[in-house]
Amino acid sequence: MARAYIGFGGNIGDTRQLITDAIVCLALRSELQILAKSCFYQSAPVEATGGDYINAVIEVETELSPYGLLHVCQTIEQEFGRERPYANAPRTLDLDILSFEGVTQNETELMLPHPKIIERSFVLLPLLEIAPEIFLPQWGELKAYLPNVAHQRIEKLPCRNCNCGEKDVYSQSAH
Ligand code: AMP
Repeated sequence: MARAYIGFGGNIGDTRQLITDAIVCLALRSELQILAKSCFYQSAPVEATGGDYINAVIEVETELSPYGLLHVCQTIEQEFGRERPYANAPRTLDLDILSFEGVTQNETELMLPHPKIIERSFVLLPLLEIAPEIFLPQWGELKAYLPNVAHQRIEKLPCRNCNCGEKDVYSQSAH
């Protein structure tokens, strides 16, 4: 079993609901367990067009291979109607594997850890919310990169149905 982090983002439709539904789809799969889910964040587009994005990150434990997990993520993207009319177009739902325990690779189809983690506040903030001490061998402690992204606009959204800090159906750590 390996721990992995998955980042979600989208800026078309009710993205909070889409991400919530996608997480339920993941939770129903026997090959992985969801250990934690961050709050939702609203962020300005970075290298992308359209309106603000909604983002979240989850931690999973899985018996899948990295490519097996990518396949699951891509299947969910398709099920939720993502279209790719052009590069960096607005998107219904984007899933990225941020890191996969013990795996470092630079293959175009699957780069691990995801090379943009330390450049994007919309990844770093939700990731550090559920894994405040996360350390990756290539970069060290990820919290050290927060000052580099401090200029990127992002806001943590209040939870609708739960109190932050309390356990929810997906989470074993702070929500
Ligand atoms: P995007 O348009 O940003 O969703 O990029 C999708 C493409 O990135 C797909 O072809 C994936 O195979 C590739 N990719 C490379 N590394 C990753 C990763 N860590 N997580 C998800 N997709 C990845």
